[in-house]
Amino acid sequence: MVKAIRVHRPGGPDELHVEDVTLAPPGPGEVQIRHRAIGVNYIDIYRRTGLYPAELPYIPGHEGAGQVVAVGEGVDDFEEGDRVAYISAGLGAYSEARNISAAAVIHLPKSLSYEQGAVMMLKGLTVQYLLRRTYRVKKGTRVLVHAGAGGVGQLLCEWARALGAKVIATVGSPEKAAVAEKAGAQDVILYRDENFVERVRDISRGKLCDVVYDGVGRATFPGSLDCLAPFGLFVSFGSASGPIDAFDINLLAQKGSLFATRPTLFAHIAKRKDYEEMVEDMLHAIKRGHLTIDPPHSFPLADAAKVHAALESRQTMGSMVLIP
Ligand code: NDP
Repeated sequence: MVKAIRVHRPGGPDELHVEDVTLAPPGPGEVQIRHRAIGVNYIDIYRRTGLYPAELPYIPGHEGAGQVVAVGEGVDDFEEGDRVAYISAGLGAYSEARNISAAAVIHLPKSLSYEQGAVMMLKGLTVQYLLRRTYRVKKGTRVLVHAGAGGVGQLLCEWARALGAKVIATVGSPEKAAVAEKAGAQDVILYRDENFVERVRDISRGKLCDVVYDGVGRATFPGSLDCLAPFGLFVSFGSASGPIDAFDINLLAQKGSLFATRPTLFAHIAKRKDYEEMVEDMLHAIKRGHLTIDPPHSFPLADAAKVHAALESRQTMGSMVLIP
């Protein structure tokens, strides 16, 4: 038996229950991992509320880091005692230990802690595909990052700046403004107090942005489109404020032949070759100092409900992990 968080029906943070669950030995192609850190992500909230469906009951969580404690038949790349991290489209991370397909697992470099490993998988790889595969950000690219003090937001600001981009970030408070600026944003907009479209126009002297990274959703749409120069790319990658309503595609024509995409990390890492290349690129960025995975805020696994409540009420900055 291992301790895990389980959800039996969609709802608020109170639906996250600490329970004992049985853990079988790993099946063929699987490894068993004893978690040392488990990443908390906004997608865990979408699942919990039912915005993204999940088969009930389930154990939440898509990423973690820990030690391999058992290896299933046919697994050659990992052995007992290996330090590893993983990201998986399947659920099950909020637990002391779990079985998972070896195809989702990577060796964790010695230079990174388990806590950093848990954070870098979902958030770091998301930033990798957003900046390197969705829009190829380079010197002089004008970028708008919404929620620039968040977990993904800070990493986006830092790596985009390191690539030579001009980075504007929006944030929900003055305290968060300082954090986004430290992360790499040259200009920060308090979008709860200011009209962010007007501010982007002023800051860019009317040139607007080449790409907008929008994980906020309903509250920033369609303003995000108005921040784009002709032929700019609107990247809608999340809905922290709620999903955006369906819109007429002619809007993209009216606002300057814009492009729009709604990507997911899981599509980008579906092929192991792509996954490995993305991990390599991210680790290279960490080594070169283009991406900093700060030690995240850590909480006991049993406090998952408190962590969810803080994340969805906009109280958090940066990344959080649960420690079993
Ligand atoms: P964050 O740490 O960024 O937390 C969400 C932030 O969104 C809040 O701190 C808040 O910042 C902002 N926000 C704006 N409006 C609201 C609202 N009404 N309620 C709550 N928050 C609001 O979370 P993550 O780093 O985990 O994720 C950021 C986004 O990236 C999410 O939308 C997530 O779904 C998305 N994502 C998408 C992936 C993909 O592949 N498509 C993969 C990974 C993440 P502020 O106070 O500054 O406004």
